Amino acid sequence: MTEIRDTVILGSGCAGLTAALYTARAGLKPLVLEGHEPGGQLSITSLVENFPGWPDGIQGPELIENMKKQAARFGAEYRLAHLVSVEVGAHPIRLHASAGEIHTRTLIVASGASARWLGLPSEQALIGHGVSSCATCDGFFFRDKDIAVVGGGDSAMEEAMFLTRFASKVTLLHRRDAFRASKIMLERAMAHPKIELRTNTVVEEVLGVDEKEVKGLRLRDVKSGERGELAVSGLFLGIGHEPNTKMFAGQIDLDEDGYIRTANNVFATRNGAIVPGVFACGDVQDRRYRQAITAAGSGCMAALEAEKYLEERGR
Ligand code: NAP
Repeated sequence: MTEIRDTVILGSGCAGLTAALYTARAGLKPLVLEGHEPGGQLSITSLVENFPGWPDGIQGPELIENMKKQAARFGAEYRLAHLVSVEVGAHPIRLHASAGEIHTRTLIVASGASARWLGLPSEQALIGHGVSSCATCDGFFFRDKDIAVVGGGDSAMEEAMFLTRFASKVTLLHRRDAFRASKIMLERAMAHPKIELRTNTVVEEVLGVDEKEVKGLRLRDVKSGERGELAVSGLFLGIGHEPNTKMFAGQIDLDEDGYIRTANNVFATRNGAIVPGVFACGDVQDRRYRQAITAAGSGCMAALEAEKYLEERGR
């Protein structure tokens, strides 16, 4: 027999776990499908110092574990599974998950956005040990250090500018000599005394795997083929994020980059009209703020709307 739930939450980052807490406290016994990256982006962050209520900061994985426990206390259930496909027009909504078929009256999409990485084994080995995709989260740890930022878009410019507050020098590495960044942000970065731009340059290896901390980068000039090393203590990737929404293509409205379009913050739409029972929260619908606290806030909003939706239908 197919399982029928009141609320299924896709994703177990800050947004999903906050939605789980609120729907659990509303007695909806939410089921959280934890997704491909359980715990979301916080689970790969080290110290989180900007989540209110933790005056000394808290480790990202610990914050996530606390949120999980808190929602579980009120009846949230977790399953290590991900969504394969979905029929949002059906009532109840049909989910084809890696753990089988589930029907649900409300669906809260909190599947997040994944930072793009270069994909180098040395880069992956040093995530959380000097390699980061979030300047706001980790910049503080690089006070008076030399660091590098990769990317040529607005994110990279923004990260580089932000990191100048801490770092002694920021080298911005871009693989081409033309930039995607807006003129004003590029000009600001170029004019900053702490920022040096190096174009036509790719990172071939992050040095320091044995020492378990970033010691430098092996770089290659794509035009001349020349290789060299750059001594840095940190590497920040500013090469964009990808929202985890592939399974929703054609089912709900996505913007040109795949982020979920929402009406009134958290209502998913299809051809501009609200899709009954489908809500979206967190980074999957937010390309602008992308903070743990804003994700948690929108998770709360989605949960309250899901609860209201069910209540209006007599549940
Ligand atoms: P983006 O515009 O797609 O830029 C990504 C950059 O990373 C590009 O320069 C790209 O190089 C580079 N890149 C991608 N994959 C790479 C790889 N494997 N190795 C090396 N470099 C790689 O992404 P974004 O900067 O995150 O911006 C996304 C959107 O958000 C944009 O619309 C942007 O305007 C907006 N945004 C706005 C603000 C703001 O206004 N404050 C701040 C952040 C973002 P190529 O150019 O060679 O492809």
